[in-house]
Formats: sequence, structure tokens, C-alpha cells
Amino acid sequence: MYVGIDVGGTNLKAGLVDEAGRLLATRKIPLGPFQGKEYFVRRLAELTAQVSRDGGVAPGDLEYVGMGIPGAVAEGNILYTCNIPLANVPIERLFSQYLDVPVLLENDANCAAVGEYFCGAGRGTKNFAVVTLGTGIGGGFILGGKLYAASGMSGEVGHMVVERNGAVCNCGRRGCWETYASATGLIRMTKETMEGNRESLLWEESKGGTAVSGRTAFAAALRGDAAAKALCETYVDYLAAGIVNLLNILQPEVLAIGGGVSEAEDELLLTPLREIVDRESYAAHCGGKATVVKAELGNDAGIIGAALLKRAI
Ligand SMILES: [Zn+2]
Repeated sequence: MYVGIDVGGTNLKAGLVDEAGRLLATRKIPLGPFQGKEYFVRRLAELTAQVSRDGGVAPGDLEYVGMGIPGAVAEGNILYTCNIPLANVPIERLFSQYLDVPVLLENDANCAAVGEYFCGAGRGTKNFAVVTLGTGIGGGFILGGKLYAASGMSGEVGHMVVERNGAVCNCGRRGCWETYASATGLIRMTKETMEGNRESLLWEESKGGTAVSGRTAFAAALRGDAAAKALCETYVDYLAAGIVNLLNILQPEVLAIGGGVSEAEDELLLTPLREIVDRESYAAHCGGKATVVKAELGNDAGIIGAALLKRAI
């Protein structure tokens, strides 16, 4: 038995997972205000013990605890995180003060890739990629059945440039993929489109502009709004640019897209995306076809992947 923990910007989510990747128990607690490294790690240990007992397993009998961290990790330490103040936290050492269970750390997008690989969209493949469209764009690759995890920060696909001198990114570059193809990028482009289209249904779908979300463009496009339809096409075009880049480099058998935006209607997202992939990917010229699908595990991918980490490294 294993426990997987997904450390998010808002919540800590944990699950007790068995050998087959089944979630036997889950728990979620708010991250809360940061009160120091020791306190943070103690909460991780308490959460581990609780979810373990929920599933009828003594915490001491766990094989290990896997943790997905939104940032760079190496050798049991968190090196850097973008959104929570967790840099230089020696998790493994601190955790051992509370629970005598081995700890494995990995980047959260990599954990999601491992989860999908063993229990979701990547089952049965050898080479597999996951791209998560959220606040940013996360990526994780399984190559030859193993997680590609170099120097604790591989898979930062969101920061490949798709528009030279384009929109400014948090990383300091311009035109990074995630400034266009993440939910945040889509929301920015939606607001820009609304400015020039006062009559557009985008306004109605976003309560007069007060509630623009990653859904707004798709909702208005479904109702036939011309500006929204054009916006969705632009969005898919940016999304496809990065996806085709990844397919050309990695040649995975399957690439899965996850995150909130991926839940948009197929006719507006997956179908046009596949059309561009079939037209533009290198393999398409050789009669090959990469399969682009939706991820299957939703928010559980990170927990399950963290719990099954050892199998992929
Ligand atoms: Zn960037």
C-alpha cells in the first residue's frame, strides 16, 4: 500500500492507493497560511497517517509516501516553487521525524503523467506524454516505460516559445506556450476579444465581463457567436503549435491533454486539434498518426501517480 499526496496551491490532497492503482481512501485539507517548513511537513505526516487509517492500514505498514510538488525537486528536497513559499524544504529529513515511512518527491505534472500512464489514458503504451492546461501548462513524459525526470525540472513544456516577441511570461521570456494555450492565456485572449466586440455573446456568457473563465469562449462559440468561434480557432491553433512540437520531438504513441480547458466540447477543441496534428506533425508525412486524447483520471491523476511513482523511476 502507498500514499500519494498532491501538494497544490490551495489544498493538500492525499490518497491511499493499492498495488493495482485503486484509490481506497482520500482526504483533502486546505493548505492554509504558511506557518513554516516544520509545520508544513508535520501536516503532511498527519495527513498521511489519517488517510492511511481511513483505509484500514497502519501508517507504519506503508511502503512509501509519494508527493507531487508544484515546482522543482531533487533528492528529497523541494528546490523551488513558483506559487507557494516552499523553496529549500528538506521534506524527506523533516518527515522522518514524524513518520518512519520512506518519502519520494516528484514534480506534480510528472506525477499526473505517471498516474495516467498506469491507470488512465496511457495504459498499454511505452512512450506517453501528458499536457495539463491549467493556470500554466504542465507536462510529463514516460519514455520507454520510465518517467523522464532530469534534474528535478524536466517537462516544463509551458515555457517553450511559440510566438517570438509575444506576450510576457512569468518566467521572463516572451511568447511562451502557456501565455497563449493555458487557461490563463485563454482568459486573457477572451478579454482582448471582448474589447473589440461589444455585441459578442462573450459578454453575456461572462456576466458582463465580470466572470471571464476558460469556459466563456467555448460557451459563446457553441451558441454560434462569430467572435467566439474565431477566438476558439486561434486558441486551438496555439495549442496545436506546442502539441505538434512535442509530438515531433518525443513521438509518443499517445499524448493526453488534461486540466480544466481539456473538458471543452470535442467539436471545438479535440476535433480541430487533431485535424491540425494530422496535417502538420512530422509523422503525418510518413503515414504515421499520433493519438491525441483527453486524460482520464481528472484530479486524481496526481495522487495516483505520486503513489505509484516508484514503478516509473
Ligand atoms: Zn515562460
